[in-house]
Amino acid sequence: MNNIDWKNLGFDYLPTNINVRAYYKDGAWSELEYTSDEYIKMHMATTCLHYGLEAFEGLKAFRGVDGKVRLFRVDENGRRLQSSARKLCLPELPLDMFVKACYEVVKQNIDFVPPYESGASLYLRPVLIGTKVGIGVKASHEAMFFVFCSPVGPYFKGGMKPIKVIIDRVQDRAAPRGTGDIKAGGNYASSIFSGEKAHTMGYSNVMYLDATEHKYIEECGAANFFGIKDGKYITPKSPSILPSITNKSLRTLAEDMGLIVEERPVPVEELASFEEAGACGTAAVISPIGYVFDIDTEEKITYGDGQTVGATCKALYDRLQDIQYGRAEDKFGWTLEVE
Ligand SMILES: *Cc1c(COP(=O)(O)O)cnc(C)c1O
Repeated sequence: MNNIDWKNLGFDYLPTNINVRAYYKDGAWSELEYTSDEYIKMHMATTCLHYGLEAFEGLKAFRGVDGKVRLFRVDENGRRLQSSARKLCLPELPLDMFVKACYEVVKQNIDFVPPYESGASLYLRPVLIGTKVGIGVKASHEAMFFVFCSPVGPYFKGGMKPIKVIIDRVQDRAAPRGTGDIKAGGNYASSIFSGEKAHTMGYSNVMYLDATEHKYIEECGAANFFGIKDGKYITPKSPSILPSITNKSLRTLAEDMGLIVEERPVPVEELASFEEAGACGTAAVISPIGYVFDIDTEEKITYGDGQTVGATCKALYDRLQDIQYGRAEDKFGWTLEVE
């Protein structure tokens, strides 16, 4: 048992019972280890601390309307971590080991999965780090993988609300041949400055543009972007966008709802033509965009009255959450029950 106030959870780290770890050395992964230790002891010359040899994942487990606990698309996160590992020359974790680690973290912390009524969930954070000790810049053939979890509140307390975003060319998130398409911690390092600036100015997120021409939409903070118009779900395609699993799921649901899905470069000028727009990712599922301000051109775009969630955003959000919370049939096989 624990004394968590389920109604007032934010997005913070809360200690749970157990975290899971595995180590890669001499060409092989160790067995999974279970511990209540919240600390990692490492040498000060460990490569991940100096050269950013780190990749992570984020996913959630939900307690459904039927009381069952479900992990959402955990295999997709496992595959994405493998692609991150390949690009950072870190050892790949076998998919079944990733799934087992996530499954066990949920199972062994089952009392920390918030009750259905709270609208909260259990957030899982799998991390892969290069642990080779050295000073030279080279690949790390030793690594550590760990997964911990924390109960988190619903992203929008009191219901979904449109957000305000700013287009600011002060910083590019990722270069076309950089690491934008993998979930590397370093990508976040190069978004902190512009993100903080946006928050200071009263915006939730920065809309990042392509680093080559600053003509096309890339991402909205640490979330993918989509726009809705003329019965179409339109989302940017670029080599420096992180392939969001939420976006992938929304594309499937959009098609299922009869929308046409387009993945293609989306020029900034097209923003004004959308009927609805949104940012999508595990944290919020969908953050509808109510208002966009371009700091350089001073152009302002408002979707609807800027305060109301568009019908398509709402329908997509409901469909996805219905599957996550077990209110609708999981017809695409996206969930894994944790018993
Ligand atoms: C994690 C992340 C997303 C969202 O991915 P999901 O799999 O939907 O959670 C989008 N953009 C960036 C840059 C990210 O790091």
